[in-house]
Amino acid sequence: MSIARLLPLFAVTLLTATTGSTTVAGAAEPQPAPHTVPLFDAHLHYNWEPVPHFALDKVLALFREQNIVGILATSRPNDGTRALYEASQNQAKDLWVVPFIRPYRVRPDIQTWMSDPQTEALINSEFKRGYYQGIGEFHLTGRAAEAPQVKTTVDFAARHDLYLHAHADDEALEILYRHNPRAKVIWAHTGFSTAPEKIEAYLTRYPSLWCELSYRYGITESGGKLTPEWKRLFEKYPDRFLIGSDTWIDERWDNYGRIMAEYRGWLAQLSPEVAAMIAVGNGRRLFRRP
Ligand SMILES: [Zn+2]
Repeated sequence: MSIARLLPLFAVTLLTATTGSTTVAGAAEPQPAPHTVPLFDAHLHYNWEPVPHFALDKVLALFREQNIVGILATSRPNDGTRALYEASQNQAKDLWVVPFIRPYRVRPDIQTWMSDPQTEALINSEFKRGYYQGIGEFHLTGRAAEAPQVKTTVDFAARHDLYLHAHADDEALEILYRHNPRAKVIWAHTGFSTAPEKIEAYLTRYPSLWCELSYRYGITESGGKLTPEWKRLFEKYPDRFLIGSDTWIDERWDNYGRIMAEYRGWLAQLSPEVAAMIAVGNGRRLFRRP
């Protein structure tokens, strides 16, 4: 399927935005239009514990101001995700929320969820709400992914057609797919520093792998210019990448606008079609329900 056919509307929106920002007659410097490109934030935590950093109405206002049209929402515990999802059904119908079940109640669960006998019950009870589209973000390093509870989680997700949002190193990612080749994985941070050639090998080997780019090293060089190897990856696999904020600490919320501006900075260096897919189209294609 051609890229243009996947996303004509968003490509046009982005093209308009890009054109509008670079053709100001007589201006010394092109003026960026930073918020005109709609974005899907595929790594959003609205942690409820110990207390939300921003109240719900402030979060919703921030998304509007930043032109965030959709979010992949997770939180610790899941109260924050539920609050966002319920808002999207009521006072914020313009926001599209893709809720994922987080297998954590408190921060130390990051280390223990894969061996905690309560994890399965937590996932099962949350899943009964009926609106979740995935499980995660969860953390895994190396052979910790071999734990039986991880396989149970991967199989549960495959059985119910849920995505996994995995903060995993290369070895753990490979183990997830060994547990169940039908797994659909959103790879948080794309391995942080995994070599682009290895990422390409994974994209070829695992057709149900998508790469989320928060904290990802090496995408740009000085001046915010896309590096050749990443530009090539994006152009060759435009349907496999997503951007995300990773608001795991208060400081990320405080810098939300700067984080999104950085994405918009390098997205503008890609063709409008490719940029539109990474900005919002892939999220829409993967998660949008009619
Ligand atoms: Zn995260």
